[in-house]
Amino acid sequence: MPAETPNTLPVPMPLPDFRPVAPSSGVRSFTEPAREIPVIAEADVAVLGGGPAGVMAAVAAARNGARVVLVERHAYFGGMACAANVNIWHQLWSPDYQTKVIGGLPEEILLRLETLGAVRKHGPDGRGHYVICTESAKLAFDDMVVGSGVRILLHAWLAGAVRSENGAVEAAIVESKSGRGAIRAKVFVDATGDADLCARAGAPTTTGGANGKCQPPTLCFRIGGVDQEKAKAAGVNNGVIQRELFAHVMDYNGGKYPTFLWGAQSVWRPDELMLAGTRVPGVVCSKTDDFTRAEVEARYQMRWVLKHLKQFAGYEKLYLVDVGAQIGVRETRRIQGEYEITERELLEGVRFEDTIAQGVYPVDIHNPDGPGILFRHLDGVEREVAGDGSVSNRRWDGQIDGAPKRATPCYSVPYRSLIPRGLTNVLVAGRCVAATHEAAGALRVMINAMSFGHAAGLAAAAASTRHDGSVRAVDPSELRKQLKREGVPLLNPTPKLEAVGA
Ligand SMILES: Cc1cc2nc3c(=O)[nH]c(=O)nc-3n(C[C@H](O)[C@H](O)[C@H](O)COP(=O)(O)OP(=O)(O)OC[C@H]3O[C@@H](n4cnc5c(N)ncnc54)[C@H](O)[C@@H]3O)c2cc1C
Repeated sequence: MPAETPNTLPVPMPLPDFRPVAPSSGVRSFTEPAREIPVIAEADVAVLGGGPAGVMAAVAAARNGARVVLVERHAYFGGMACAANVNIWHQLWSPDYQTKVIGGLPEEILLRLETLGAVRKHGPDGRGHYVICTESAKLAFDDMVVGSGVRILLHAWLAGAVRSENGAVEAAIVESKSGRGAIRAKVFVDATGDADLCARAGAPTTTGGANGKCQPPTLCFRIGGVDQEKAKAAGVNNGVIQRELFAHVMDYNGGKYPTFLWGAQSVWRPDELMLAGTRVPGVVCSKTDDFTRAEVEARYQMRWVLKHLKQFAGYEKLYLVDVGAQIGVRETRRIQGEYEITERELLEGVRFEDTIAQGVYPVDIHNPDGPGILFRHLDGVEREVAGDGSVSNRRWDGQIDGAPKRATPCYSVPYRSLIPRGLTNVLVAGRCVAATHEAAGALRVMINAMSFGHAAGLAAAAASTRHDGSVRAVDPSELRKQLKREGVPLLNPTPKLEAVGA
């Protein structure tokens, strides 16, 4: 379906103001009358948010004997993969592809996608990253959740929390077509990505970096009708397209948006691509007015990108296949946890006594203020992509460029980073774990989120067998043993952080 012709691109700028309307009546607020809320579910473990982290938490807890309820606001599970079209999952192996460092539930869903023929493997012996069919992922997530006996609630928003004075969350309040309802549980897992439950329950959170600015969100969309052969023959590749597009500022709405583009060919068809070709700086997507502006702004950015793409050989007949159901959100709130993991600890591969997950994806920070991306890899390499698309490589560890690469197999995440301060029976999983802004730049990816979910689900099931649901009473060494039994190849801890470089 041809969706856009370049000549008819509307430019209704400037965009309207999406900030809350200032009251002109003088009435600034209402007091909501107290009301009875029915208890709509009772469980051992309630998981809020059915993204990659939440699904794995629910599945792990259910398979370990807990009665589990999983709440999700969309019509399907999978979070940013399925609602925002993000179709790349990162490797399970160390950077040199020699050591498997990730397994368990993230690996299980990859195997399920493979059975559906819905994954393309990259790297030597298929040990690199994966491109997945995000529509098929909806089915694979369903199979894991339903097959594990999890009770599910779709189209339901977490809207509040009932918390006792001692810091125990007694109920999660959800809002849905049926109205408000309370979900009681012994233990809760906050997998909303935005730490919504923790914030509603009054636990301390941090947003973005030191200045409160977050990595920008990106709307991902799919295009079809690309003639790859023709593009190749004309010398048009990703690099060429990026350089050309990066040379332009998006020339509408005051021209203040730097161009941004990366993408991946779909699993099924060579003429179809997912493009992450937008970026909205200066917004915090846990604020509704910012979130709204980001959605609308990004769709206009996408139209600008489509218009310019059509000028490349092979792209003349492109058409819009679909647009993510929501903009992809990289960063909002994170919990302040029992342990805040730092970038340095990640990159140096510190292995904690209570490590419950390992990862390899680099620190990847999209400039919150404007153009540019910075990567810091476990092997010592730092790579910066500037606003004009030019790339500079250097080392983050003080070594000269070209020095032997570091052989760190992975980084590690301690159980304490999943425990929010101030709450007794809550764990988090996914991108809102306790980490600095820089460390979160690495931890936020989906394979990691799923690994945290796996561990949080096991821990929640264990905590739910106690009368007080205390997540601090869970023995991390027992948790590690169970994770290993379930296929997570956790390495032995290292004694302490060794200083490296400058
Ligand atoms: C443009 C972009 C590109 C990316 N590229 C990659 C990539 O290539 N590979 C990769 O692995 N990662 C990538 N990421 C990061 C990754 O997609 C996310 O960080 C990851 O999905 C986080 O997983 P999560 O489970 O913590 O959160 P999410 O995926 O955000 O899932 C949270 C879930 O909770 C639900 N939810 C939220 N609030 C509520 C509520 N109040 N009530 C009910 N439900 C709620 C949401 O609907 C969602 O399903 C990218 C992110 C973006 C934005």
